[in-house]
Amino acid sequence: MSIQPIRYFGDPVLTTPAAPVTTYDKELRNLVADLVETMQDAPGAGLAAPQIGVSLRVFVWDVDDTVGHLINPTLDLSEEMQEGDEGCLSFPSLVYNTPRALRAVAKGFNMHGEPILVEGTEFLARALQHETDHLNGILFIDKLSADDRKAAMKEIRESEWFGDAASLGNSPTIRISPHATRGLGF
Ligand code: ZN
Repeated sequence: MSIQPIRYFGDPVLTTPAAPVTTYDKELRNLVADLVETMQDAPGAGLAAPQIGVSLRVFVWDVDDTVGHLINPTLDLSEEMQEGDEGCLSFPSLVYNTPRALRAVAKGFNMHGEPILVEGTEFLARALQHETDHLNGILFIDKLSADDRKAAMKEIRESEWFGDAASLGNSPTIRISPHATRGLGF
């Protein structure tokens, strides 16, 4: 188990759809452990495998003092929407209002290959949607209003971390202030 460097926007792994997990082995259990450890170190409320450079359909969350993980998820979403601030560990310090479905039901598997179902409203529903999007190569800035997206892109271009993405695999992680995303980073 170890803390892994988090990939930042600009790294192609973040915009590449991840592959389904086919083998529920020790390697997968190590991946889940690394995701949990890296998420809690950040700290964040969720983390998907592509964010640590592993293009597999696996994510973890830490919401309301409950840590969970899900493999090969599918989502059913409510039509009713919610508004609220959202951040992403792959976009240090960015926080934008991100419309999401109010309720989400996620089906998938645990690390032992047993089917599980997770129902979430509000913040957990937001986490499940954010992380499932990561597995499809979709990022939270894709969900913003046109004006907010423009503002986000400006903030990204002016950020210290943008542009280092290509070398991140080999360089030390930049430590992020625990308050950079107001605790809302996924
Ligand atoms: Zn994210």
